[in-house]
Formats: sequence, structure tokens, C-alpha cells
Amino acid sequence: MYYRISEIKLNVKESPSAIPEKIAKKIGRDKEAIMDYKIVRESIDARDKEQIRLVYTVDFELAGELSGRGAKLGLKEAVASTYTFVETGLKKMKNRPVIAGFGPCGMFAALILSEMGYQPLVLERGMPMEQRVGQVQKFWQEGLLDPESNVQFGEGGAGTFSDGKLTTQIKDQRIGKVLQELVAAGAHEEVLYKQKPHIGTDVLRRVVVNIRKKILANGGEIRFGTKVTDVQLIDGAVSAVQVNGQEWIETENLILAMGHSARDSFRMLHQKGMDLMQKPFSIGVRIQHPQELIDQAQYGSRDTGLGAAEYKLSHRCQNGRGVYTFCMCPGGQVVVASSQKGGVVTNGMSFHARDGAYANSALLVDVRTSDFGSEHPLAGVDFQETYERKAFAEGGKNYQAPTATWEAFAEQQEDGIKVRNCLPDFAVQALLEAMPHLGRKLKGFDSSAALLTAVETRSSSPVRMVRDEQLESSWKGVYPGGEGAGYAGGITSAAVDGIKLAEKIAERYRPGFIHE
Ligand code: FAD
Repeated sequence: MYYRISEIKLNVKESPSAIPEKIAKKIGRDKEAIMDYKIVRESIDARDKEQIRLVYTVDFELAGELSGRGAKLGLKEAVASTYTFVETGLKKMKNRPVIAGFGPCGMFAALILSEMGYQPLVLERGMPMEQRVGQVQKFWQEGLLDPESNVQFGEGGAGTFSDGKLTTQIKDQRIGKVLQELVAAGAHEEVLYKQKPHIGTDVLRRVVVNIRKKILANGGEIRFGTKVTDVQLIDGAVSAVQVNGQEWIETENLILAMGHSARDSFRMLHQKGMDLMQKPFSIGVRIQHPQELIDQAQYGSRDTGLGAAEYKLSHRCQNGRGVYTFCMCPGGQVVVASSQKGGVVTNGMSFHARDGAYANSALLVDVRTSDFGSEHPLAGVDFQETYERKAFAEGGKNYQAPTATWEAFAEQQEDGIKVRNCLPDFAVQALLEAMPHLGRKLKGFDSSAALLTAVETRSSSPVRMVRDEQLESSWKGVYPGGEGAGYAGGITSAAVDGIKLAEKIAERYRPGFIHE
């Protein structure tokens, strides 16, 4: 029988192979009694920089019964969490389910539907990985932007050129399924147990292609370079989607997993009368420091064996505005992540090794819907576009993002003014107030070594597509999901939302299901 034990602590220099011995000691048995073990969770305790520890939760198989000291610990049987598919419907679908978007949400919706035998059709406006990587490199090197296939659009969605952090604030048993599928497709096994797992853009690109292959092998189809441009409704229910302004594809089940950058699609949906509402989001800059500075501040040294250190900081300003760091990329690089001509937006990316010389993170100020200056459901999109256009202009109109040191920003030097011009005044004021506080929380954060890049506008969607308890939009058979629809904030939560949508569609085809 397997038991679960927590608080197994190792010195950072100790190998995980010492775990059975530690367990044996804790339960008062010989090491030989630990027949097998599996790490369930690993976290870092760096509160005492002189004695940084790795803390494990472990499932272990014990020879014989728990007794004595072990029994007193009250250990419970370890129950492996496996994903249970919803009951597959028996009623026949007239047409295949269609999924718009092949980011994490659309990908996992397609995977689950294909595993249930529904043979989904995925429509993705961007290109497959092989072509997309070249397009993105060309954009970064030569400033040639393809508005249909770029850092935001294309196979794998917005997170493909990212750090591939898999941390999420949601609690959902489907997370296990997401992580297991990522590992099955080539992610390192450690993502299953690290407290803050990440894949890295290099590995993620391979993983995405392998998931694509699995969907195809299950009978799904994926069409790249294929944008949903219109939706046909009959009596308030979807009957077909138009692609690339030409062909119509019939379907009664449409998942909209288009991400937060599909502004033209948002506008099309609004124009057709879909129920959309404003959603608060954030605006700010990318902040970059030497990784060594972060390691020193977090671990007291660079040479801990723990890899590049992370941080997460926040401050509430006197006027109530929240300032916080987000999407931190240790050992990574700042990237321009534009998807629209004449706009610059920044983000961060790292490779699996996270061995770059710099750390970067979004440094954001919360934006309320009252800041939009309009009641229009898409006013948040207009707000984002305004500041992205400013960043394009200040950067020289060639997709180079404006940058300035913190010192230049604070002291209104020429470069600093350019970065300030890319932000609303309330955000500039909030950053000026917050930085000294953040510098006290993480030594050196507000030093002159900090480099700011403008503008960070797309940490989340400015729109929510209203959906009911069946996860349907105001149109029957249309299921909006993921980050763009306002129901996820990151790779893992978007993937989980995709699974939920697939489940809802499958449930609809159970005998006895009545569609109100
Ligand atoms: P998306 O990933 O945005 O996918 C939507 C897809 O729909 C796109 O491929 C798009 O081309 C397609 N599409 C749009 N409109 C249409 C249409 N009309 N027809 C057909 N297809 C369409 N999150 C993390 O959790 N960890 C990170 O480390 C991280 N780093 C990031 C770094 C960068 C550079 C970026 C840009 C984002 C990062 N994110 C990260 C955010 C993360 O990528 C998103 O939260 C996540 O990808 C959202 O998934 P999604 O499936 O909802 O949407």
C-alpha cells in the first residue's frame, strides 16, 4: 500500500535519492522497508538563507503495516489522481464540433473531444510551429509583422514563445490531466511535482507539436491559416462558421478559444450581437534585472544549485491602485509580442534551462473599467490599442519597444519620458509610488540596474464573453473559453477551461439531455 507523507526536508546539496532514508527515519523503520516512492510535490524553503531546504511531499510503498511512530503520524493512503472522462454521449452529432483557436484552451478541448471520439475540427488563424517560429524570428530581427501568425497567433497560441510557467491560482482536478498530457508529449516529469513548474519555450514548442499529432491520430483535424470570420445563427443557435471570409463550415457546437489578442474577432462577435462585457485588466512595463541580483536577493548567493531565483512582489498604493509583478521569467529575455500593425506590446520568454543573464517580469498597475472612459463592451480593447500605438511611436515605428532605466524613468530623462508616454498617468504615478516599497521587499529591485520596456498591456483579456452554467454564450451551441473569453489567466487555467468546454459538449449528447 502507498502512503502519503509531507514535510520531508532535504538540504539543497542533498540528492533526492536520500528521500527513502528520510521517510524511514520519520516513520521509525529501516530504509529497506521503503519499497518504492514517488515525489508528489517539491517546494523551496528559502526563509533562512543560510539553510535553504527543499521540502517534499512523497507517496511511498511500505513493506508491511505502519506501526509505532509511523502510525502516530496519521498518514493516509495515497490516492493517485486520474482524470475521469464524462459519460460519452450516445446521440449522434450532425456535424463535427468546431474549435476556433489552437492555444492551450482550444488544444485541450480538441484533445479531450478527440479522446472521446468526437473528431473535432480545429481552425487556427496562425501557422503551424515549423513556419511560425521562422515568422516570429523574422519579426524580432527585421520588424516584419504578419498580423495572422506571430507571437500571439499560431500553433500553440500565445504561450508558445513564453517561459511556459504552469503555475495557476485555480484549484481543479483537471490540472493533473493537463500536466500528465504535457509530460506524455515531452515535458520534463518534474512539472508534475514542482511547486512552480515551467516548461520553457524550447520544450513547449515540441510538446505542442506532439499534442497536435495525438489529436490527428485520434481522428481530429487541424486547419492552420484558417481564421473564423463570421458565425451563422438560426433561431439564436449556431449553424455554421465562415472561414477566411469565404468558405462556410456547418456545425452545431463551436468553441471560441481565440485568446486575448483576437480583437478583430471580438469586434465581429460584438457586431453580430454576442453578449460581451467589460473586464478589468492591468497595464505597465516589463522590468529586467541581472539574474545575479535576483539570486543574491532571494538566496543570498548565485551558486545554490536551485537554478535561477524567482520573485513575486506587490504593493497597494495610497489611492488603492494595486501594483504587482506578474509572469516572471528567470534567466529569460524580454520580447516584443505584437499582433497588430502599428502596435507594440511586450512580454517575457525563457528557455527550459533558464540560464540567461537576466530576469524579467511584468510590473503592472491595475486598470479598472472606469478608466476606459466608455461603457462600450470593447472599450478595454480600445484602451489597450491606444497605449500600444503610443509604444510603437515612441519606439521609432519599427517594432522596437521603448526602454529606459528606472533612474531615467524616475528622473524624467529623455528615455524615461518616452516610456512614461506609453502609460496612462495613473500608472506612472503608481509605479513611482510603489517602486521604493518593492525595492525594500527585494533588495535591488529599484536599483539603477533595472531596465523598463514599454508597454505591457495584455496580461489578461479586457473582455468577458458572457456564458451560462452550461458554459454556453448568449448563442446556443457557442462555448467561449480560455483567456480571451475572460475565463482563464495563463496556460494551465486556459487548458483546464478547454477541458470543461469539451465536457459540456459531450454532456449535451447524452440520452435524455434537454437543451433549454
Ligand atoms: P491563446 O493562447 O491566445 O490562443 C488563442 C489562439 O486562437 C491563437 O493561436 C490565435 O491564433 C487563435 N485565433 C484567434 N482568433 C482566431 C480566429 N478568429 N479564428 C481562428 N483562430 C483564432 N501564461 C502562462 O501561464 N505562463 C507563462 O509563462 C506565460 N508566458 C507568456 C509569454 C508570452 C510572450 C505571451 C504572449 C503569453 C504568455 N502567457 C503565459 C499567457 C498565456 O500564453 C495565455 O494565458 C494562454 O496562451 C491563453 O490560452 P488560450 O488558449 O485561451 O488563448
